[in-house]
Amino acid sequence: MREERTAAIVLRTRVHGESDKIVTFLTQDWGKITGIAKGAKRSRRRFVNVLESFTHIRLRFRPSRADDLAFILGCELLQAFRRPSQDLQRFALASYMVELADVMVAGQEAGQEIYALLLHALASLEALSPLPALFLPAFELRLLVELGYAPNLRTCHVCGTSVFPRAPDEPALLFSPSLSGLLCPRCDTQGGATFRLSPATLRLLQTWLASGPLPDLSAESWSPRICQETRSLVSRLLAQHLPRPLKSLAFLERIDVPPVAAVPGQAACIDDAQSG
Ligand SMILES: [Zn+2]
Repeated sequence: MREERTAAIVLRTRVHGESDKIVTFLTQDWGKITGIAKGAKRSRRRFVNVLESFTHIRLRFRPSRADDLAFILGCELLQAFRRPSQDLQRFALASYMVELADVMVAGQEAGQEIYALLLHALASLEALSPLPALFLPAFELRLLVELGYAPNLRTCHVCGTSVFPRAPDEPALLFSPSLSGLLCPRCDTQGGATFRLSPATLRLLQTWLASGPLPDLSAESWSPRICQETRSLVSRLLAQHLPRPLKSLAFLERIDVPPVAAVPGQAACIDDAQSG
């Protein structure tokens, strides 16, 4: 097979045998690729500082047939994100974001949007100070959208009645994670376990869904209720689609990043409307 080139983000690296490394990338043009870098453990010259997690590189490789490993010919550094190595919170967030992208993207079907989203999120993690409270839920929601799991926040999932836009003084609506949609007051017993979303949270989420790849969060501030409802919505949607728990989540929680991802019972702090 001939040599290919693409921009890529390193998702994870592990040592293989005496001197090789097996590396998984999210690429701009080839979706997710796992390849072998022969001699990478020893060759400081060919792969210097380019196979670390979160590094943005230009990858030269020979594609594999079927499920075999690609053959990594070389990597050129495009951008090293340095703040995760200097700041534990940012390191935990970056680790979580790349692991989430890794488990949610199955293979080469990933489009450029997911690569662009992860790159944008890592660049924002490098640039934003302080980090906005809803930085991670905004990333998680956009990832769900790009994977085809966008929630329906405009109409009642059961009867189709429009519930958009919502005036600030209107009552909160129930959201059903299992249906991935809202329920109007007439249909609000039909969604299984549900929780409330206030008009202000719905407005924020609808703005986010309409923008891409990530909303500009730098000058935003949100009420505690909006933060809590947003985190609850995103964590429960993720719980519907995550194929396995993430290893990086325990680390994220240990260093006191606000609860963001799917852990049984974790989102129960919010005013649950119904369960079961
Ligand atoms: Zn309805």
